[in-house]
This record gives sequence, C-alpha cells and structure tokens, in this order.
Amino acid sequence: MPKLIVANFKMHGTQPFIEDWFTNFPLEKASSKHVVVALPATYLASFRDYGLCLSGQNVSSMEKGAFTSQISAEMLKDCGASYCIIGHSEAREQLNESNESIHDKYLQLKDANIQSIFCVGESLEVKESKMTESHLEDQLSAFDNDSEGLIIAYEPIWAIGTGLVPTISEITEVVTNIKERFNNPVKVLYGGSVNASNAQNLLEKTNIDGLLVGGASLNPQEFAKIAQLC
Ligand code: PEP
Repeated sequence: MPKLIVANFKMHGTQPFIEDWFTNFPLEKASSKHVVVALPATYLASFRDYGLCLSGQNVSSMEKGAFTSQISAEMLKDCGASYCIIGHSEAREQLNESNESIHDKYLQLKDANIQSIFCVGESLEVKESKMTESHLEDQLSAFDNDSEGLIIAYEPIWAIGTGLVPTISEITEVVTNIKERFNNPVKVLYGGSVNASNAQNLLEKTNIDGLLVGGASLNPQEFAKIAQLC
C-alpha cells in the first residue's frame, strides 16, 4: 500500500516562494496521487495544475453565511483542494476549536467530497501523566466506531517543530490503538519533526500509513527525499 506524504506549509510562503518550490521539487520522484501539499488557502487556486494534490489547512464548520473571514468546504473544492487538514493543534489552541466544531468541519468536507486529515495529539503534560490514550479518545469521541475512510494524523504537540520524535514503539502503540478503535480501516499518519533523515525509519519500523511534514516540507529538495518514500 503506498504511503501518503503530506506537506503542511502552515503560514509560510508567498507566490514567488511557492513557484520556486514547485520549480525545485522533482515531480518525477513523487507519485502525484500520494503526495499532498497543504498550502495557505490564498495560493491553492494558483497551484491547482502543478501536478500534486492540494490540501486546505482548515475549513469552516458552517456551510455558508455570515461568517466573515471563514472559508467553506465548497470554496476549498473550487480552488482545487482534494484534502483538508482539520484539528491541527495550532488551530485547536489559537482558534479555540472544540472537538465538536472539528467534527462539524469533517462533515462539511465530507459533503464537499474533500478528504479530511484529522489531527490528534497530546501535550507533554498529558504524555507525562500517562493520559495519552484517554486524551486521544476524547479527541476522537465525536467519531463513531463505524466511521469510514478516515485519515487521522497523530501529531504529539511536544514533537511539533521541536526536533523531538516519539520512539518507534510509542508511535506503534498509539497507531495500533487508533486503528483498533474503528471497525473499518482508517489510515493513520505520523507528524512531528519528520525530516529526510528520520522519515524512512518511521515509515519502515512503525505501522503508520504516511507522514505529515511541517518545517522540513518548506525545502523542496528535502521534501522530495521524503516524498519519494511513498
Ligand atoms: C505540523 O505542525 O503539522 C508538523 C508536522 O510540524 P513539524 O514537521 O515542523 O514538526
């Protein structure tokens, strides 16, 4: 089964930066079906024909209406997104997103035929108090066991942008628990300080179905080394 490799640009990049990125990204090394780039929403439409799948980084939990500043699932679809990240820890914290509103986002995306990449992950405090399993279950609680076609990204908050990565057995245990929670197959990605040096080991030694890559994805050559593993 090919792995899914997702780049999360976060709030980085300008039109020239992203043009350069695509110019320097060796497309032939990546399966265009299994490599996804989550660009800032304002750039999605410009890069829809550049050969990779596109993803939004967030979406409104509402369909349409008086929600100044928000972007709907249908709008993302219009701009060429076939995926969308939801529940990223930065959005949960900075935008005060609740598990319920994130589930509503998932429903909006489903209606628009966009694949959600639903992020979950524990803080260092939760990890140290050995509450990771119940914390993740709480984040997943809005999804019933029979949910189908989910892509979940396990991103420990303490591993994002820090250079710290959980051990192979820690990742394997969490991913196994998530997969066992559902009656249907779900894909589980890992994210948190992935780079060209650790990606292969993570993909080969754990039961993950792919990677979500933040900082290292901004360098097209480095991201290509990761993307070619899918
Ligand atoms: C992320 O925030 O989704 C992420 C994986 O970041 P980084 O790779 O920079 O840790």
